[in-house]
Amino acid sequence: MTSRTRPQRTALYRSHPELVLNLGSCLTVLAIVAIVTFLLMRERTNVEQAAVRSASNIVQLIDTDIVRNVELYNLSLRGLIWAAQRPELLTIPPELRHQVLFNQAFSVPLRGDILWLDSNGDVVADSASTTPRSANFADSKIFQDHRANPGLGLLISQPFKARLGDLDWCIGFSRRISDIHGEFAGVAAGALRLSYFDELFNRLDIGHEGSINLINTNGVLLARHSAQDNRQLVGKDFSQQLNFKRAIQEGRGSFSAISALDGKERLFTFSRVTDLPLMVVVALSSEEVFESWLRTALVVGSATGVLCVGILWLTLLLGRELRRRQDAEQGLATLAATDSLTNLPNRRRLDQVLRQEWARAKRNARPLSVLMVDVDRFKAFNERHGHQGGDQALRKVAATIQRCIRRPADLAARYGGEEFLIVLPETDTQGAHQLAENLRRQIAAQPPYAGDAQPVTVSIGVATHAPDCPQHSLDALLGAADGALYQAKHNGRNQVV
Ligand code: GH3
Ligand code: MG
Ligand code: MG
Repeated sequence: MTSRTRPQRTALYRSHPELVLNLGSCLTVLAIVAIVTFLLMRERTNVEQAAVRSASNIVQLIDTDIVRNVELYNLSLRGLIWAAQRPELLTIPPELRHQVLFNQAFSVPLRGDILWLDSNGDVVADSASTTPRSANFADSKIFQDHRANPGLGLLISQPFKARLGDLDWCIGFSRRISDIHGEFAGVAAGALRLSYFDELFNRLDIGHEGSINLINTNGVLLARHSAQDNRQLVGKDFSQQLNFKRAIQEGRGSFSAISALDGKERLFTFSRVTDLPLMVVVALSSEEVFESWLRTALVVGSATGVLCVGILWLTLLLGRELRRRQDAEQGLATLAATDSLTNLPNRRRLDQVLRQEWARAKRNARPLSVLMVDVDRFKAFNERHGHQGGDQALRKVAATIQRCIRRPADLAARYGGEEFLIVLPETDTQGAHQLAENLRRQIAAQPPYAGDAQPVTVSIGVATHAPDCPQHSLDALLGAADGALYQAKHNGRNQVV
């Protein structure tokens, strides 16, 4: 395929300026819409990335806080075990024993509590009070696991609802206590209340419709902060929700999806807390995240729309103006090429066409005929009927000539005065003669002008350029036609030579 050359393009503009104009402005409008859409979509991606980044930071912060607490529990349990194995512990007063056994961090049961269970599962010491609450944990899974297996180390339980205290959701940490012979002597167990994280959650800004969730790997919601539905969802099972399944499968990351709770779109960012059976999920409302972007998009979109409509409207006006100018130019060109008396093409147009057809006939080696038509004794006619009568007769002759030529390429023009010239491309002598004879007869067959005995007649000189005569020139051809006309006049007029 070849691309359009410059002259071709210019020609397209000349022949269809309105089309080029419309195409140009449509392309401009398309380009503007494409650029604005691209920029807005890129801005939307940036906004989303920024939201994901800040949600990730929140998730990370909570993660770190939970891990730090696990460390604290681990150290406290070790401390409790160390103290529990001292025989002299039983000799000191209960208040002092309490201080030795439990880390100060657990003196207020905000975070959770730590219990010392003996080999029967009874509570021996309780971080929450110097007189231990009475309870037996022999039936609990962690107790049985530690009793059965000495090498478990720190055991982290699935989240559970506490039996003592305010029955909150907790996660349990436990270590086995062995006596000096390595025999099972009990369990040191701590519970971390997950509502302890509420205070941290409350300090974080997640918008009006966002939420921070601590959920266990079985899908149970353990702690939640949300401006709208604080806490009433805690304990709900999300294990069958698609969003939960996807988050559990991916471990950490972010995605947008419809929330099963309220059917609104949310941007979920989540992470498993190291190897604990916990997952932190921050859900931001997509509506809130993109609120300011949407406002910008609406303003920019409407401004772009107005701009595009403006461009199209201006194009319409310009196109209309262009068409009007083109029509006017066309009208002027037609006017400049037309004879005002007979409405036939004038001498200027004739010269143009003659030159073109002559060149074409030469190039293609085709015949070209010309007929020179002259009204007979017109001077006398004018004298009889005046110039207005003469003009009327000339118009009639012109109309008959116009009727006689049929091919699109044929051209009849007023040559001057009462003379006409007919150009007949691709026509040989015989054809030209036939047409001339037909024309002469038709003019002579018109009814005579008012008061005249004879009708108006014409004499016609025919000349043909034959392809086998290359030395011929246009002037010679016209000269030949003129000569033939002179001959026709000489022979008595109203005839074809
Ligand atoms: P013939 O050609 O038969 O030899 O005689 P003629 O009388 O037609 O010859 P001539 O060329 O001497 O006269 C041409 C006349 O045509 C002169 C002029 O009065 C008249 N004529 C030329 N142009 C016009 C025109 O536009 N209107 C009118 N009414 N007459 C015109
Ligand atoms: Mg004449
Ligand atoms: Mg004449």
